[in-house]
Amino acid sequence: MLRQRRPKVPDVPLLMTPGPTQVRENVRIARAYEMTNPDIDFKFFKFYRKTCLKLAAFMNTESQVLILSGEGMVALDSACASLAEPGDRVLIIDNGIFGEGFADMVKVYGAEPVVFKGERTRGISYENLREFLEKDSDFKFATIVHCDTPSGVLNDLKEICPLLKSYGILTVVDAVSSMVGEPLFTDDWAIDICIGASQKGFSAPPGLAFLSISPDAWAAIEGRKTPIPSYYCNLLLWKNYFEDAWFPYTPPIGDIFAFKIALDNVLKEENALRRHRKIAKAVRKAVIRSGLSLYLRSDYCSTVTAVNVPEGIDGEALIQKMKDEHGILIGGNFGYLKGKVIRIGHMGENARLEYVSETLKALQLTLESEGIFLRADMESVFLEEMVKKR
Ligand SMILES: *Cc1c(COP(=O)(O)O)cnc(C)c1O
Repeated sequence: MLRQRRPKVPDVPLLMTPGPTQVRENVRIARAYEMTNPDIDFKFFKFYRKTCLKLAAFMNTESQVLILSGEGMVALDSACASLAEPGDRVLIIDNGIFGEGFADMVKVYGAEPVVFKGERTRGISYENLREFLEKDSDFKFATIVHCDTPSGVLNDLKEICPLLKSYGILTVVDAVSSMVGEPLFTDDWAIDICIGASQKGFSAPPGLAFLSISPDAWAAIEGRKTPIPSYYCNLLLWKNYFEDAWFPYTPPIGDIFAFKIALDNVLKEENALRRHRKIAKAVRKAVIRSGLSLYLRSDYCSTVTAVNVPEGIDGEALIQKMKDEHGILIGGNFGYLKGKVIRIGHMGENARLEYVSETLKALQLTLESEGIFLRADMESVFLEEMVKKR
């Protein structure tokens, strides 16, 4: 029913990476809609604003939400550029590759990153962070990743962000890869800047990033001692875009049309969270029963599963083989996980029974062709789990 009609071109694999994800036909078509001049036509300003408001409602926030042109990183960079100043101390909460990466981003703007390191194989410990903050809490803002995609670890923002807020520390949250697949309550969880992107759970093409900016975050941005050292990443230029009917740069109208349709697809679904949770749980069960092992020890995000590559096998070569022989592209890894941990991206449109079962089957066959024989048939275990009522 949901199977997409794809052109039969051999070099278009079934996309099972943790972003970009598969893009539904109605979203792809929307990119080709006839367009107006988005800088001049006030109807487009209204459309843009309405789409931002819809997205804000989805993110459970009353704060202003902006859709920026550029993929996820442009929103991370905009948050850092607009908040960080020379002399500011920024708390970098790090239990993964994206978490760690924020340190370099704030340094660019002259701020001093102070890293709070958590274990890489589980969520950030609330208790350890609380103890840390008792001794040192002089930070303008903190950065944290909701789901650190290379491992798929999920951090408990509901506990962590209010704790930071109680010390007067603003929070910048990268929720790029968790959104749509995990609950998100931006305001209730006291998140000041919450960041997402088009190409993960929303299953739109890459090219757009978005973020919510709380009144506290706006106050910090407006209260800077020094000007924001960026034009493209200056959030202040956006603050009154609607009242002024002026965009800092021409919005990519086709991408925004497509994203609006992707957002509608998500909003029309009755229970996307349940779909993700169920698929994720069944994938983990299949992996464990097969004798393969999961990278994480706990705190699994429902959008991606990171699997340890068996001893003696190169993960990157395995992925290449799976793509060449089965036409399915799963995720590799980078940094210290490269070659050692592979990832099945079951987020957004990818999180469908038929795609995931095909993927597990292909993974098993590819491993067998490398001489790795598993204890159980992953596809069967997965399907058994999926038919269970819960
Ligand atoms: C994908 C992703 C981003 C966006 O960056 P890419 O350049 O697309 O990789 C940012 N943060 C997280 C956690 C992501 O998964």
